[in-house]
Amino acid sequence: MAEEIRLEVEDGILRYKGSRMWILNPYAIAELQKEMRRIIGPAHKTILFNGARKGAIRFVEEMLSSSTLARTVKRFGWGQRRIAEEICKVATRLGFGEMSVVSYDEKEDRWIIRVINSPVPEALESDTPICELTRGVIAGALEVITGKSYKVREIKCLAIGDEFCEFEATRK
Ligand SMILES: [Zn+2]
Repeated sequence: MAEEIRLEVEDGILRYKGSRMWILNPYAIAELQKEMRRIIGPAHKTILFNGARKGAIRFVEEMLSSSTLARTVKRFGWGQRRIAEEICKVATRLGFGEMSVVSYDEKEDRWIIRVINSPVPEALESDTPICELTRGVIAGALEVITGKSYKVREIKCLAIGDEFCEFEATRK
């Protein structure tokens, strides 16, 4: 990986490029998800999705307003796809798996985002796709980058035997 991740820690407060972070292992997230699934059923997906979406909105807004990334975007006049690719690199560095933009159909306003080595599937068995947090992060990030709302479906998932996880985002 070209850029090393640099975290600042002071008084138990950890930051990445100025944004507060908190490191959890995937098993904690998997157990949380398992408990939510057991107690409240399918609605847990919406809760996890919306929580991650809102968290990502805040994080990506911070990234695009005050970091060196914000200055680069402005200086080089990056378009939405280029910004999305860069946010995928940030997510990759933060351990979300190797995230990339596979395609962006401008006419249809349809994005395909791939995640190789997604962290939760290795800790959670399921017969349906389970990466609700990543799905929410993609929705939130795209919302900040484009100013529009997206519906995000996980169309492939490591948890159900696919080689990687893949997400389709279409306009709501
Ligand atoms: Zn998945």
